Amino acid sequence: MTAAGLYVHIPFCSSRCSYCDFATGLYQSELADRYVRGLISEITAWEDVGRNVDTIYFGGGTPSLLAALQLERILAVLFDKFKISAEAEITLEINPGSATPDKLRAFRSLGINRASFGAQTFDDAELAKLGRSHNTADALRTFADLRDADFANVSFDLIAGLPGQTLDRWQRNIRQALSLAPEHLSFYLLEVHSGTPLAEHIRRGIQPQPDDDLAGVMYEWMLEQATAAGYEHYEISNLCRPGFHSRHNVKYWNGAPYFGFGCSAHSYDGVARRWSNHRDVLKYVSVVESGASPVVEEQQLSRTDVRAEAVFLGLRLMQGVDLRRYRECFGVDLREEHAEDLDRFCKAGLVELDGDLIRLTRTGALLSNEVFAAFV
Ligand code: SF4
Repeated sequence: MTAAGLYVHIPFCSSRCSYCDFATGLYQSELADRYVRGLISEITAWEDVGRNVDTIYFGGGTPSLLAALQLERILAVLFDKFKISAEAEITLEINPGSATPDKLRAFRSLGINRASFGAQTFDDAELAKLGRSHNTADALRTFADLRDADFANVSFDLIAGLPGQTLDRWQRNIRQALSLAPEHLSFYLLEVHSGTPLAEHIRRGIQPQPDDDLAGVMYEWMLEQATAAGYEHYEISNLCRPGFHSRHNVKYWNGAPYFGFGCSAHSYDGVARRWSNHRDVLKYVSVVESGASPVVEEQQLSRTDVRAEAVFLGLRLMQGVDLRRYRECFGVDLREEHAEDLDRFCKAGLVELDGDLIRLTRTGALLSNEVFAAFV
């Protein structure tokens, strides 16, 4: 049976970024204590004991705000309930300036071997506009501290398409990121979510509308520079040095099982069932404290849903979807079933067929939603 991944959501941050619509709020130590106890109750109640697991991901929020002792307690109960491989990839999201060198060393000694580092941009003016709580000097210092603490697998998160961001500023950002030689790069185009301060600033004309066409140019430029520097473009938004792909995130795209704990966490059994927890942290905590299940939504996928997901999640990976394997799994020839769509996408240069593989081109990666819509 395919090894599962575990996700643990830590919904606390030291400030609220202007574009953020994640399930997260300001860090309060009493609430964080209660939340960790709630997480431990939820994991303790897990019944499918002994499942093979080879990745754990602490996301948020800013999980690095927790004390090493709190993470140690969560890991202990995960190791108790699941059969976790000795070579498991264990990732912690860390924001610049959110952990001292001692704390980073303590995290590393818990077996955490991968850091997902929320750099976002190396431009102080842009960081300030985003409402981030760090500046470039914090990012450089924390990155150096991560290396000193023996983190040999570090991923940078970078955002392109910020309001008012010029190509020149973006290029300086990417040069700075590449000069630090992280093992992995995750690259996001800014999305403006309604209800966020950023959306309100744009509505009132305080900040300009993001320029999607320019963001596309930034994306292409970044891919060219990073691939020339030896990074492999393995997923629409992700690049890595050889062998350093995010083993955890790849599970989301290739249909492997993953189990999420904490508020707003999502799970998938790897067959056809998805479920998710209460989004609100206080609701989550009070439900688990009462001994009830925090699951608030369950979905049984139909065979058509599972087939569609195999295509549009699989296409996110630049290696593409293997048509022969798809036929073996579902008894359907995708090339025949979607002949017209595939012909149209190939002619438009969005998709390419290579033997039994169908994959997005670089242009297709940028316009992926257009392609995915045909398979939903
Ligand atoms: S650090 Fe991340 S999760 Fe926290 S407020 Fe900023 S964008 Fe949201």
